[in-house]
Amino acid sequence: MRPRASYRPSHFLPPALLVASGAVVGSLSVLNEFFTSLFNVLPTLLLLLGGAFCSVYGRVRQVALLLVVYLAYYLLDTQVDHFQVQGVVREDAGLVFHLSSLLLPLLYGLHGCWEERTHLARDLVARCAVLVAVLGVVLALGSRFPDGMLGAVGSVYWPLLHGDWMNLVQLAYLAFLLALVALLVTYLRHPRPQHGAQLLGLCGLAWMLPKVFILPHALHVMSSMVMLALTASVAHEAYQMAFRDELTGLPGRRALNERLRRLGRNYVLAMTDVDHFKKFNDTYGHDVGDQVLRLVASRLRKVGGGGKAYRYGGEEFTILFSGKTMEECLPHLEAVRQAIEAYQIRLRDPDNRPRNDDAGRARRGASAGQAVSVTISIGAAERDALQRTPDEVIKAADQALYSAKSAGRNRVFRHGENRRGAVRIRDVAG
Ligand code: GH3
Ligand code: MG
Ligand code: MG
Repeated sequence: MRPRASYRPSHFLPPALLVASGAVVGSLSVLNEFFTSLFNVLPTLLLLLGGAFCSVYGRVRQVALLLVVYLAYYLLDTQVDHFQVQGVVREDAGLVFHLSSLLLPLLYGLHGCWEERTHLARDLVARCAVLVAVLGVVLALGSRFPDGMLGAVGSVYWPLLHGDWMNLVQLAYLAFLLALVALLVTYLRHPRPQHGAQLLGLCGLAWMLPKVFILPHALHVMSSMVMLALTASVAHEAYQMAFRDELTGLPGRRALNERLRRLGRNYVLAMTDVDHFKKFNDTYGHDVGDQVLRLVASRLRKVGGGGKAYRYGGEEFTILFSGKTMEECLPHLEAVRQAIEAYQIRLRDPDNRPRNDDAGRARRGASAGQAVSVTISIGAAERDALQRTPDEVIKAADQALYSAKSAGRNRVFRHGENRRGAVRIRDVAG
């Protein structure tokens, strides 16, 4: 079963900051010498460094997007340079500008929603071939029939939709709209940092194009920021892959290990394990098991008391309460145990087939809409004089979990303070 993706503001936050700061800095009429020189070389540097970085991570789509943005930047920069030095635009400025504002969103949108399917090298070749073919045809037509091209691109095709505020040719707005819809659908289908970044990158380009000849730094600054956002999104995804569990969306074991390295003196660690999960998988199938793990994770994520849930591995989760005492945490652990026990999970997938006849018999009647439930056992331990290191606390929590399982499961146990054994919470609470 494919892990369910979720929409997260964090997919948009880094590119939004970059694009917004690009808009602010790009709007300045004067930049000091240092930043002017920096932004003059940044697009080229980002093409090289970002391109190499994205290639190493096999992100061919991002390489193509960087290329598209850079090509548009290069073509427009030649024109802007001429304009700034000579005070007049070049003869072909109109055609180059209008074609760039039409082709940039089209090619950017095309590559942004073009999924990498085949061998990555072949994919890159195919993308470059499309770029070369489109640019080749347009350049050939543009040099052969410049006036005809200018007329075709620059015409107002729908006078009713034309507004005085439009600084680009009408077709360019249509191209941006098409690209926006394509990239929005791509993000909605697969919410990932890369898709969020390319969507906001398009917005940055839409901001930039009308200002290319008006604001002196808009082109360099915004091209750099869009390229930076595209590259950073690859790093963001790599980080997520390393630290976030794909099935449940919780931070994974590596993230827990990182967190354990910078804990204070007081903390409580709870190990959680789903009861009889092997049997559950055999009865309902692995896919339903996955569905249930996600729902258990979503409940654990909501644990109160400042607890943070991690997927430790398999059907085991860890909840960490930093700066808390055992007495403060136990009610929250008990609450989450009860919430999962009471949670009636409706099966979603009607095509879920049992693995074998035994499973089929055991599963008789288990169909879409049927409610199932699971329970969890929890063992908790606190850092104290006897368990000083995180490893020792985890071991103690594991022992408490083992005791909870031995005592019949579906319960919260704490590790005994005098190490004579675990103490059952409900017994302690009376
Ligand atoms: P106990 O109550 O003692 O914990 O019994 P149990 O059957 O849950 O035993 P155990 O914890 O050893 O079982 C782990 C099972 O969890 C084995 C495997 O089938 C299942 N499991 C582990 N990871 C996944 C997963 O990602 N998806 C699914 N569907 N099942 C998993
Ligand atoms: Mg287990
Ligand atoms: Mg288990």
